[in-house]
Amino acid sequence: MDKIQMVDLHGQYLKIKDEIDQGIREVIDSCQFINGPAVKNFGEHLSQYLGGSEVIPCANGTDALQIALMALGLKPGDEVIVPAFTYVASAEVIGLLQLTPVMVDVDYRTFNISLDALREAITPKTKAIIPVHLFGQSSDMEPIMEIARQYGLYVIEDNAQSLGGSYRFRDGKVAKTGTIGTIGCTSFFPSKNLGCYGDGGAIFTSDQELAGKLRMIANHGQKVKYYHSVIGCNSRLDTIQAAILDVKLRHLDEYCVARHNAAKYYTQAIRQIDPEERLFATPVEKNFSMHVYHQYTLLVNEGRRDDLKKYLSEQGIPSMIYYPLPLQEQEAFKPIVRKGSELANAKECADRVLSLPMHTELTKETQDYIIEKLQQYIKECR
Ligand SMILES: *Cc1c(COP(=O)(O)O)cnc(C)c1O
Repeated sequence: MDKIQMVDLHGQYLKIKDEIDQGIREVIDSCQFINGPAVKNFGEHLSQYLGGSEVIPCANGTDALQIALMALGLKPGDEVIVPAFTYVASAEVIGLLQLTPVMVDVDYRTFNISLDALREAITPKTKAIIPVHLFGQSSDMEPIMEIARQYGLYVIEDNAQSLGGSYRFRDGKVAKTGTIGTIGCTSFFPSKNLGCYGDGGAIFTSDQELAGKLRMIANHGQKVKYYHSVIGCNSRLDTIQAAILDVKLRHLDEYCVARHNAAKYYTQAIRQIDPEERLFATPVEKNFSMHVYHQYTLLVNEGRRDDLKKYLSEQGIPSMIYYPLPLQEQEAFKPIVRKGSELANAKECADRVLSLPMHTELTKETQDYIIEKLQQYIKECR
């Protein structure tokens, strides 16, 4: 068996090498490195994939979130609600724009924003909510959109970990995650579900006027070259990355299925070796969400998370803690954050989560080995 990896980008590349290499070669041959045809083509293909949303490609997922907030005309001191258990970028951009991050708790089994905490956190200063579809599972968007309508709030979906996933409304209608809120943001960081070979990101909206504004902000605040209407930034998707993404987008649905199948295999096996969830609580899939397993994340009981991580590592099995410190405890946020609710679950998640290897090339053989070692660990814990 090969060395076990958290993600296997090389194995994935080898299967699509010819298409990828040809795409890259075409960009180099044309020398249109900035805003070449591949950027437009990929944007159009992604728009079709998402069911017609406008797609504004940009330099990375963090920029996507920043540009989204810039386009909404918020003023310093306005409050933006964000879950306390997420990657830093979701909240960092709020602080960067001198807005106030209001941190709210998560549901500790789905890792996504808690609706009760969200309701509790709203004040007259609240202007926007950033639900994060963490680890590949959609937040509960229908009630979030209802709350947003009730209080007149914008919703920016942080879809960096869930591109390809979807949400089912109560009437049965299904929409891709990232296309439901006012604006959706994603990242093409190499290890993301649709990853390029460098940095990349994109912004989605179904509002044409807003799309124009987002495009303008990402392009130095100009619609006509050298005529700048607003302060913007320089955030472009590289043409080479767009060519790579255009190839990989054709495989995204297969990749989602591969991740979902691998997750199902883990969960069935772990339920068998630990039926009472004495040590391991497996991820919960909500019926409103088509989970695309950016990460396969266990909650480890009995304070054994760090010990288990060490044990797995000794058996040649990598694992990762996403994320070890909730945002309310990060130095950077202490001076600016407002706590919108109790944050006990965010803390508990940070103390208990452990993500196992999860990628599109994971074999049953590798998973069997990992499961065997988890079982051995349970025995040694008795
Ligand atoms: C990766 C990620 C981002 C940021 O994306 P970059 O492309 O790395 O800037 C934002 N939010 C979440 C939840 C992410 O996982």
